[in-house]
Amino acid sequence: MTPSVAVIGAGITGLTAAFRLHQQGVPFTIYESGSRTGGVIQTTERDGYLAEHGPNTLLETSPIIKNLLSELDLGQEQIYSDPLAEKRFLVRDGQVLPMPSSVTGWITTPLFSLPAKLRLLGDFVQPRPPADLDETLASFVLRRLGREFLDYAINPFVAGIYAGNPERLSLREAFPKLFELEQRYRSLFLGNFLGARERRKTGEVAKSNAPKLSFRHGLSTLPHELTKLIRHSLRIDSPVIRIGKVGKTWTVTIRNGDSLETHEHSSVLLAASAFQLAGIDWKTGDGDSLGWLAEIHYAPVTSLVLGFSRSAIDHPLDGFGVLVPAKENISILGAIFNSSLFPDRAPKDHITLTCYLGGMRDPELALASAEVQLKTTILSLKKLLGVSAQPTFIHRTAYTRAIPQYEVGFGKYRERMKGLEEKNPGLLLAGHFRDGISLSDSILSGHRAGLKLIDLNNQTN
Ligand SMILES: Cc1cc2nc3c(=O)[nH]c(=O)nc-3n(C[C@H](O)[C@H](O)[C@H](O)COP(=O)(O)OP(=O)(O)OC[C@H]3O[C@@H](n4cnc5c(N)ncnc54)[C@H](O)[C@@H]3O)c2cc1C
Repeated sequence: MTPSVAVIGAGITGLTAAFRLHQQGVPFTIYESGSRTGGVIQTTERDGYLAEHGPNTLLETSPIIKNLLSELDLGQEQIYSDPLAEKRFLVRDGQVLPMPSSVTGWITTPLFSLPAKLRLLGDFVQPRPPADLDETLASFVLRRLGREFLDYAINPFVAGIYAGNPERLSLREAFPKLFELEQRYRSLFLGNFLGARERRKTGEVAKSNAPKLSFRHGLSTLPHELTKLIRHSLRIDSPVIRIGKVGKTWTVTIRNGDSLETHEHSSVLLAASAFQLAGIDWKTGDGDSLGWLAEIHYAPVTSLVLGFSRSAIDHPLDGFGVLVPAKENISILGAIFNSSLFPDRAPKDHITLTCYLGGMRDPELALASAEVQLKTTILSLKKLLGVSAQPTFIHRTAYTRAIPQYEVGFGKYRERMKGLEEKNPGLLLAGHFRDGISLSDSILSGHRAGLKLIDLNNQTN
């Protein structure tokens, strides 16, 4: 058998890994169950509006991402977010207030009470917790920064990133850098300062400071360009339904219309969602299965992109967007001000907003009818931004399982993935359910998986 890699899933993780294999001339097939590549990355352009179905921005957290974009020659297409749109807004007592970005801003902001601000200083005298502590994000924040900060800063922030609940997410698993910061420096403020110096040496950038980018025609440009280069080895409409192993040879069975096809490979990369991989029949003869991957919780989310006439909104939209704490009586998790971030997201004198609904906070709303969701969202936008007219554009994407939740105890799944790989040389698992939930995390995960597969291939030859 000529050694050949099977990549399962043509989302950004699988595509990035496949691109690395392609560059090194390693034979591979990338199997995709759907009829298009990109996974949750998908852009629709209609009537002068641009709507992202899934992610809206890519964070340039690492030189590897910058290099990938230049290897793909995407310089002309790439656009960085407007520096004037850095401001983030939070809601407190129904008011939309800017998140402070300087020491003076922190002192004067009405977002937090004076006792809450003074409580932050406790960070300098907090003891270091045990290294094996797996606590919730909420317990960490209560310990270090206090209740008000949890309710009005961390709760909305976590809704914006994970669509998650700080009472369930694990600090160690979901925010490993924060966990390490505390373990290493004891004080978060001190750690943030000293950690920045170290990141400068490696070229890594913290997510909070990373440049945000997209492309003139939206994020789907990235999977589109990757697909062009690897299309000779791509099988779309080819769901993998079974994986087996005979000696050192992997067998991958796909459904092709009404029939089944089995192909032999020397190694396999599992790069679909955890719940999708859980449905693959695992026939390696050692009694294992992938079924346990279905235990990883995903938050349900609906993304509603709405266009409005500019004159129908009171708020200046002079920032990235607004996040809503659970304590406020407002239904949406938050909204991104797309037209402020990137040019040409809406026709002249119009704007687009992307609103997120549901998440772990309100799973029922995430799955409610389009009509209910629209009505609820318009009501929220009326309160928050002074919207006074019906939308001129609507694009809705509902995900029953959108974002994996790295909850307390998630470490056992990471251990199990590692164990499966150790037991099965030639097998790798990569992507958002293991290496971080963001687009940049998935690219880096796919990149690393690609390099490992190249190594494995070199060893086989
Ligand atoms: C609503 C939403 C908003 C987001 N916003 C942002 C954001 O603004 N910024 C950010 O950085 N990140 C964001 N993310 C996260 C980011 O989009 C993901 O982390 C990343 O795109 C995941 O890529 P992936 O390749 O790991 O998985 P996926 O995109 O899920 O791709 C998996 C692929 O595997 C295929 N597949 C499934 N089963 C099989 C099978 N049996 N055989 C073959 N193929 C199979 C699927 O069809 C799919 O194409 C967002 C995610 C969502 C859902």
